[in-house]
Amino acid sequence: MQTIIEPFRIKSVEPIYFNTREERITILEKAFYNPFLVHANAVLIDLLTDSGTSAMSSHQWAGIMQGDESYAGSTSYFRFEETIQRITGLPLVIPTHQGRAAEKILFSILGGKGKYFLSNTLFDTTRANIEYSGAEGVDLVCEEGKHPSIPAPFKGNMDTGALKKCIAEKGAANIPLCIITVTNNSGGGQPVSMQNIREVKAICEANNIPMFIDACRFAENAYFIKLREEGYRHTAIPDIVKELFSYADGCTMSAKKDAFANIGGFLAMHDEKLAQLCRNMLIMTEGFPTYGGLAGRDLEAIAIGLTEVMDEHYLQYRIRSIEYLTNHLIAAGVPVMQPAGGHAIYLDAKEFLSHVPVEQYPGQALVGALYIHGGIRGVEIGSLMFGKYDADQKLIPAPLELVRLAIPRRVYTQSHIDYVAEVIIEVYHQRDAIKGLTIIEEAPMLRHFTAKLKPVD
Ligand SMILES: *Cc1c(COP(=O)(O)O)cnc(C)c1O
Repeated sequence: MQTIIEPFRIKSVEPIYFNTREERITILEKAFYNPFLVHANAVLIDLLTDSGTSAMSSHQWAGIMQGDESYAGSTSYFRFEETIQRITGLPLVIPTHQGRAAEKILFSILGGKGKYFLSNTLFDTTRANIEYSGAEGVDLVCEEGKHPSIPAPFKGNMDTGALKKCIAEKGAANIPLCIITVTNNSGGGQPVSMQNIREVKAICEANNIPMFIDACRFAENAYFIKLREEGYRHTAIPDIVKELFSYADGCTMSAKKDAFANIGGFLAMHDEKLAQLCRNMLIMTEGFPTYGGLAGRDLEAIAIGLTEVMDEHYLQYRIRSIEYLTNHLIAAGVPVMQPAGGHAIYLDAKEFLSHVPVEQYPGQALVGALYIHGGIRGVEIGSLMFGKYDADQKLIPAPLELVRLAIPRRVYTQSHIDYVAEVIIEVYHQRDAIKGLTIIEEAPMLRHFTAKLKPVD
């Protein structure tokens, strides 16, 4: 049997609100060509993010009803703590309301001027929290990770040569932490190999630098290790996960990703002194250490989700459905990042709309075209998100112009994915008619969320 079926059946459904192409043209115009300003009920297939958008299981919903809302010593907290200890082997567990809250606490304590945090690639909120503390973040992704169209098995790996060089340059004493992001979100959901994690740990250990894992997609990464790395074919996912965390001194996690939860996160670590500092900060910003910024029912849903995500049938379906969509697009000649990552597909808008110059934001233009043609919502990851201006107000473009279509977990079926492929391919065939955009209003920071645009004449 070839067909990989969705490893669930559906008990509760949500309607998709259909609208017409003509209606979508008006909606997008009124939203100033920015999908963040479109109301969710005007979107047919929402691929804006995989964060907090998962479908929870009946087991998780049952857990929601069992949540213990006691302020201190909630039984839900102890279930949460025990689950994370069992999965990661990390003894000290601190709940937070999101991944970035865990980051804020960690980097307020470890950061500061003159400090450097080294990573394969820091996620944008991680980098923002590091920089806000006055410290600097340094991305050291391997060479393969820098070329979107060249396939390689572990494009999320850290460049260990560059790591050694960077430690020698900056001085180990100025590096409070090394952070490995699994999978590498900003790099396209590309996995990191166990061997790479082992090597990074050895280098860190030799220099007395602790290593943390940004663990948002730990299960997806573990499945890639099982598929692609020598020696793991017969290892169970929980054992791969356990080994992965065995090299870490701690982790930060957003439960909105690989825990199937709609909100939540945590910090976990070995160092008792650091944990105490984190808990003191937690009480000021999030809440008492047995709930963080969460309700008891959230702790319950996260604990159950963390166990469910390691199911191999689920992970096979998850990774396969992203690969299925990517392969469809490759076969039709659509420029897409290769190989498929764990949670999203990335269209290369610079090549897709080669007639639209980067000053006219080809990524954002493509996002608009996908919405008008098929009601699909994606996000630009290019010069609208990362572009800067020089002294003459001329755009300094981002290195890549991408459109990310992130796939929510357990939400869409194969026919939805087939529809998405069809829409993208049809838009590709009509690409010459797509016009570039110009900005009419923007905020000084993180402008992509609120920018207003209009088509160039
Ligand atoms: C989502 C994400 C975060 C931040 O988590 P939030 O829950 O959105 O605050 C940090 N790192 C990575 C790799 C992520 O994907």
